[in-house]
Amino acid sequence: MTKVIFRCPQTGVNVERLIEEDTDATPNEFLPVRCPACGRTHFINRATQKLLGQEESQPAKSQGGRA
Ligand SMILES: [Zn+2]
Repeated sequence: MTKVIFRCPQTGVNVERLIEEDTDATPNEFLPVRCPACGRTHFINRATQKLLGQEESQPAKSQGGRA
């Protein structure tokens, strides 16, 4: 098992999870992990250990900033 840390896209919380190591993992192989922060399932790239769809910039603002 190996520990991965990712940022939950739903809550913005850093989450630690243990995943199974796979030395044969390809850069396009993703592992579903249950997120304790939001209760959803996210996908972790086994090679880079980054979240699926995680980009350096967000595509668009879908939420209004008014309270
Ligand atoms: Zn989450």
